Amino acid sequence: MKSFDSFELDPLILKGIRDMGFEEPSPIQAECIPAVLRGEDVIGQAQTGTGKTAAFGIPLLEHVDTSRQKVQAVVLAPTRELAIQVSEELRKIGRPKRVKTLPIYGGQPIGRQIKALKQGVHVVIGTPGRMLDHLRRKTLRLDDVETLVLDEADEMLDMGFIEDIEAVMDYLPESRQLLLFSATIPPAIRRLAQKYMKKPHYITVSRGEVTAPVIEQVYYRVLENNKLESLCRILDSEDVEQGILFCRTKKGVDELAESLSARGYLADGLHGDMAQQQRDRVMNAFRRGDIELLVATDVAARGIDVGTVSHVINYDIPQDAESYVHRIGRTGRAGRTGMALTLVTPREMKQLRSIEYEIAGDLEPRDLPSLEEVAERQQQVLQEQLDETIQSGELIPIFEELVNNLTEKHDAEKIAAAALHMAFSHRFKGGTDAVYDFGETGASPGMVRFFINVGRNADIRPKELVKAIAEQAGIAAKKVGRINIYDRFSFVEVPEEAAPFVFEALRKTKINGARVNLEPARPRNRS
Ligand code: ADP
Ligand code: MG
Repeated sequence: MKSFDSFELDPLILKGIRDMGFEEPSPIQAECIPAVLRGEDVIGQAQTGTGKTAAFGIPLLEHVDTSRQKVQAVVLAPTRELAIQVSEELRKIGRPKRVKTLPIYGGQPIGRQIKALKQGVHVVIGTPGRMLDHLRRKTLRLDDVETLVLDEADEMLDMGFIEDIEAVMDYLPESRQLLLFSATIPPAIRRLAQKYMKKPHYITVSRGEVTAPVIEQVYYRVLENNKLESLCRILDSEDVEQGILFCRTKKGVDELAESLSARGYLADGLHGDMAQQQRDRVMNAFRRGDIELLVATDVAARGIDVGTVSHVINYDIPQDAESYVHRIGRTGRAGRTGMALTLVTPREMKQLRSIEYEIAGDLEPRDLPSLEEVAERQQQVLQEQLDETIQSGELIPIFEELVNNLTEKHDAEKIAAAALHMAFSHRFKGGTDAVYDFGETGASPGMVRFFINVGRNADIRPKELVKAIAEQAGIAAKKVGRINIYDRFSFVEVPEEAAPFVFEALRKTKINGARVNLEPARPRNRS
């Protein structure tokens, strides 16, 4: 497997990559980075979420000479959101090297952008229209640009930007490097490439393997605020022989492994920052079965082939379908059946849908086990273990002596219960069901009433509000209750059991492009 170290990058760029938490290059990065570093023109084709930004961003940042206060690279992107997103990623990777990046897009006061440009910028990321605007005003000069990137080229052409793109290209020096990234390569892109590229190097990565059918795939809707508790309930109600739990970051791995250990699970973590020796120790313990739950990042778990893994649990939802497929492939090995469980918070519902779309399959929704179900299951497990221990006849003599002494003072039943309490009470703590207390909101019985800080001023209509709530909180539209929309704010009632999900999904979000905040209503601001 290639590592970022193999590209012979500036240590400061490597630091930027590490700071992003990237452990190893994605397939498109592994191929693109060396080609772009060599100065070739490249066409990169790959699905969204495959890491195209860093594929061009890393070599582009490597090439920047920060001692020159000149724009040295330009990225064109179809929308302001994408321009900002790309700019942010490049800013983070380039931060240790002190590369200055700036997004420019329509809708932002041009004066502010002119001021920012004057302060000296190395990489400009922008939408074609606004970029052209600056070029015509001469507030942006591209005489020193070495690399031009067309990101999401197919989108840009679909949006009719072809003339603007060609116009921007006229401002570039003759000997520039042109990189073109796109999920698809329609004929218009081929023509563009023929016209402007020198011997383009065409790089494509495929979609990867398909999911194995022997794996049962389930998801649980959980609250962000209560994720660990939810995980424990799932663990306590499932027959987990051995499980691999996935977290997005190394820090997440450390935290989850620690929390689980503190709650009495046999858990340990595995990630790329650990010394090889330590990793071997954890893996050997997992193979022997001394560890039941292995908490890992995607990269650390890659290639793990332990036949007894009964469950893969996505504690953090994977970033894309490919990662999902890789992760769940750690179970159901050697023809056994396996379970793949994914925890999904209200804000991640969209991500779940996109994964389902890409793998062309649905995950089965499951309700979190209730406290009663968990307790019942725990009791059953404990009873089996006690039966076995008594039958084995292998009790340490001291314990029997102790019980003999104690029976002079207490009932044998009380003694047994106290011993169990000392040994297992941590497993029965359970926690509570109430994660949020919305207080008195003046709602109809069984409902919670929310205040929303926008109304007709943001063009919000009941139909759209219901749709946003139903989609983002994952409840049926007809379950949404009374709605009142006023000029500057609105109220909506939702069933109590759905309220925490609605709250997490719609707190700080956007409806109709308007920034929205939602809070439990107070009875006094009732209409
Ligand atoms: P694309 O442009 O192909 O749609 P992005 O460049 O936006 O994909 O990357 C998708 C996500 O993957 C981003 O959150 C990015 O930070 C992350 N990412 C990119 N490369 C890596 C890597 N090598 N390791 C881990 N995460 C990565
Ligand atoms: Mg992209």
